Amino acid sequence: MDRSNSTSLFKEALNYFPGGVNSPVRAFKSVHGSPLFIKNGSGARIFDEDGNEFLDFCCSWGPMIHGHNHPYIKDSVVRTLENGLSFGTPTVHGNEMGKLMVDNHRYLEKIRFVSSGTEAVMSAIRLARGFTGRSKIIKFEGCYHGHVDSLMVKAGSGLATFGTSSSAGVPESLARETIVLELNDLQAIEDTLTTHGHDIACVIIEPVPANNGLLLQDTSFLAWIRKLCDDFDVLLIFDEVISGYRVGWEGAAGYYSVEPDLLTLGKIIGGGLPVGAFGGKSSIMSHVAPEGPVYQAGTLSANPIALTAGKASLELCMQEHFYEKLQQKTERFVQQIEAHISSRSYPVHLVRMESIFWIAFSGERIITAGQIDPESMEQFKSLHKYLLDNGVYLGPSGYEVGFVSNAHSDNDLSEAADKICKGLDFIYS
Ligand SMILES: *Cc1c(COP(=O)(O)O)cnc(C)c1O
Repeated sequence: MDRSNSTSLFKEALNYFPGGVNSPVRAFKSVHGSPLFIKNGSGARIFDEDGNEFLDFCCSWGPMIHGHNHPYIKDSVVRTLENGLSFGTPTVHGNEMGKLMVDNHRYLEKIRFVSSGTEAVMSAIRLARGFTGRSKIIKFEGCYHGHVDSLMVKAGSGLATFGTSSSAGVPESLARETIVLELNDLQAIEDTLTTHGHDIACVIIEPVPANNGLLLQDTSFLAWIRKLCDDFDVLLIFDEVISGYRVGWEGAAGYYSVEPDLLTLGKIIGGGLPVGAFGGKSSIMSHVAPEGPVYQAGTLSANPIALTAGKASLELCMQEHFYEKLQQKTERFVQQIEAHISSRSYPVHLVRMESIFWIAFSGERIITAGQIDPESMEQFKSLHKYLLDNGVYLGPSGYEVGFVSNAHSDNDLSEAADKICKGLDFIYS
């Protein structure tokens, strides 16, 4: 497969951007070759600058739940564009999207639109601190919440340690405000809240941790966190930037029926354009400026074009049986691969929730970040190369999940599953 145009474009990009990219996950640091420059996409397929075609399971890291260039989303955007791009004033598009979201979600009473998931999380954390008057936060190892300073923190050694920064440029004083715990460890949360509860503003978690493998938690774990947060007057924030509108209309909160105080959204709610949001209980959201003292603002927040794309995307999700059908076809796809894996006894399994899947190079159930064997990433690297050569595009890291879109047909999925099986045969032969 000729990828010379992508290769030379990447070489050029190295002159302009650190590492040649505008987001590190796009670099092919942990897989073979150089990043593909994608020219266009249609439905489940993307096409690179050399004219190669790929079945896409990255889906722009989640937003493209209806596939690429969906005519309804595109036409809506084009119609709105005719009126101008941005005014810095309220528009009817904000109200329409606000109504669609608030009227159809048990746990969203008020929301504020921003322009990225990172911004949503950053603002929700500030709100939690402003509301409680406390400064420390609890997060979990293996959960990603955007590149917010106080969340670029990993666990130190030992239980309930204060974090050390996982990025240069984050002041240690800030990292010390973050306590990092392991997923699935109820005792650690209880102990930490008992010791530090009066200093802790919030617990933030991806209820469906999908940025470091797919580390599915038990409902009881999430329900227990909810209870402990109530006991200690600590706010619970669900970061649903991936899971929101992906695992169902009410996201993971609805899926598990666990109510967060605040939740953050992004990805799907922009339909492919930059939109994020945070929201939750009115009694907390009323602390946001101009109603309250927690300042938060954005020149392009609730941009009419971006919200039009988001609204069109959510309207498509509202169609009858949308999530059910998406879930069922993803299940068939995963089962086809699982059947092959078990017939050959490969030390691999697929983790799936609704239309999110992850290829785990292990026979064991994986529920915490520490259980992932870094050595297993070598297998992913070989699989990624095989699939790229055979027209299937996965995100370029074994820690990333895959997404199935509504544009993936049963035939597309069966073809991709077959290639993944052949890729596994290739690795283990
Ligand atoms: C993608 C993601 C973010 C960050 O969103 P950006 O739009 O990339 O800033 C935050 N939290 C979670 C759970 C995400 O998956």
